[in-house]
Amino acid sequence: EPCSVDRIVAEVIDRSRTASAAKDIEIKVLGDRGLVVYGNEGQLVTAVANLVENAVAYSPEGTRVEVEVGSGDEAVSLVVRDEGIGIEARDLDRIFERFYRADRARSRQTGGTGLGLAIVKHIATNHGGRVDVTSTVGKGSTFTLRLPSRSSEQG
Ligand code: ATP
Ligand code: MG
Repeated sequence: EPCSVDRIVAEVIDRSRTASAAKDIEIKVLGDRGLVVYGNEGQLVTAVANLVENAVAYSPEGTRVEVEVGSGDEAVSLVVRDEGIGIEARDLDRIFERFYRADRARSRQTGGTGLGLAIVKHIATNHGGRVDVTSTVGKGSTFTLRLPSRSSEQG
């Protein structure tokens, strides 16, 4: 069904409030308002929340996380950008696998299980979308979730 992207983002920010406040991380929302995506709102909130949760978990205190909403011809993009520890190139292909955690994350003892991104990928795929990442070690990471902006039935 149609879901308001504004609502999804607001819910995600709400859920991350405790974790981001504890690290003095500001979550900034940028980009288009009033966009709609098709799908299950709860699942989409879970997907974006996992990306924001990671951005906060793998960033130093006092940094900034951005959630940027954009739209193209047939897709809405939700970009989650951080100024965190980054991900080594050799890990980039594997982080979407279940239980995979990069050494950097393990050595931080953040206590994750390595399922978050597998869930994000699963939800993206189920919605006819995709999730991509670019990252620079020591500088930060950018995850982009792309979702169809209209239902497949409408062509
Ligand atoms: P959880 O199941 O609690 O989410 P997790 O965060 O370790 O555990 P994923 O969310 O699947 O698992 O992420 C997999 C791995 O990808 C992480 O362990 C970390 O190594 C890396 N990673 C994910 N997001 C980021 C990020 N924003 N910055 C740096 N590394 C990241
Ligand atoms: Mg995670």
